[in-house]
Amino acid sequence: MTTIYERRARLLGPHMTTFYKEPVHVARGEGVYLWDTDGRQYLDCYNNVPHVGHCHPKVVEAIASQAAVLNTHTRYVHDGIVEYGEALTAKFDHDLDSMVMVCSGSEANDVALRMAQAMTGKTGVITTDNTYHGNTTAVSQLNTSKVPIGGFQEHVQRAPAPDNMMPPGGTREGQAAAFAEGVKQAIAALEENGHGVSALIVCPYFANEGFPTLDAGFLDEAIALVRAAGGIIIADEVQPGFGRIGSHWWGHQKLNFAPDIVTLGKPMGNGHPVAAVITRPEILTCFQEGFKYFNTFGGNPVSAAAAMAVLNVIEDEKLVENAKEVGAYALDLLGELQKRHDVIADVRGSGLFFGAELWRDGKPATALCDAVVEEMRHTGVLLHTEGRFDNTLKIRPPCVFTKENADQLAEVMDAALEKVA
Ligand code: PMP
Repeated sequence: MTTIYERRARLLGPHMTTFYKEPVHVARGEGVYLWDTDGRQYLDCYNNVPHVGHCHPKVVEAIASQAAVLNTHTRYVHDGIVEYGEALTAKFDHDLDSMVMVCSGSEANDVALRMAQAMTGKTGVITTDNTYHGNTTAVSQLNTSKVPIGGFQEHVQRAPAPDNMMPPGGTREGQAAAFAEGVKQAIAALEENGHGVSALIVCPYFANEGFPTLDAGFLDEAIALVRAAGGIIIADEVQPGFGRIGSHWWGHQKLNFAPDIVTLGKPMGNGHPVAAVITRPEILTCFQEGFKYFNTFGGNPVSAAAAMAVLNVIEDEKLVENAKEVGAYALDLLGELQKRHDVIADVRGSGLFFGAELWRDGKPATALCDAVVEEMRHTGVLLHTEGRFDNTLKIRPPCVFTKENADQLAEVMDAALEKVA
């Protein structure tokens, strides 16, 4: 009999991603836990989509009750999107009080790039040399994991991503200047090749780059250069947003800069596909004048209800505070593990977005990191890897994660390191 794995691979393609050598066949989720089809429970330390916990009853109820009343495309007037957008934009400073609702982070970044084109009349984009921002044709040109067919496009220029273990410029203190120097060179290249500078787009937590430890002000010099060249600043908050980093609601607040456009996604609907672009009114108007744009599903009544419920739960359950407190506790536990395991070269993170980087014999320990992830999957804790060499254990659980959950995570990681390192 063909297995579900074989049917999936045949139907969805052999390269359709699954985590783990033996994929987890999930059946249901609740809070910080997932259960597989054999009834086995896993502590989910990786999923940022169920931001307020798997199947949170208030989000489930909001989706179900709105679906029972009305769901339609977005060309009617409906209270839901307006009420949600007003509540969401109240969480931003810097006149960021206009919104486009879309269905994925990729779409949000696609719209953001077009906004930058509309504002500047230019097409050049600057990003990092180790990044991912989504899957549309335009946005995927920013990604670095595979050389695109036809090669990397010259309208995208890259600055070296910050990194704790191998900082550009050689030192952690010097990497802000090194990043700015990379941006300066990117600007020169875009001016030279005729594209000009439309935007710098970065995740303000550099999540896919390996979430290096950065001080407020890290981007200031680079931003000043981009603005002087006429470009605007896009903060991709798909990963750090909605309070996950504990200290702030948004990654750009932690780095203390004022973006022109912010893109949101993953956690926004707790799994319901909803995403958004937040910007200033004049940028939105310019975009709407420059492009004919509408989005059938973006911000429909059910999406707006799901997103509003998420926002309310974050507030009601004080999840930003929880991320801060439990994240600090968990990071301390990783610090203790570092004392016991030589392979842990660095522990870092903020709030409930943290991890440990593994090195052995002066080299990134990619295979070992993978072995730890596989071992932990079999001992009931789900996490994954990140960073340029995939040698960092990336931990990013639902924000209802508790100190007891952190204890379990640390115990299971300790045992896994003991066994495989
Ligand atoms: N931006 C960043 C920083 C991401 O990590 C991702 C997805 N991993 C995206 C955008 C794309 O989001 P989506 O998969 O919802 O299109």
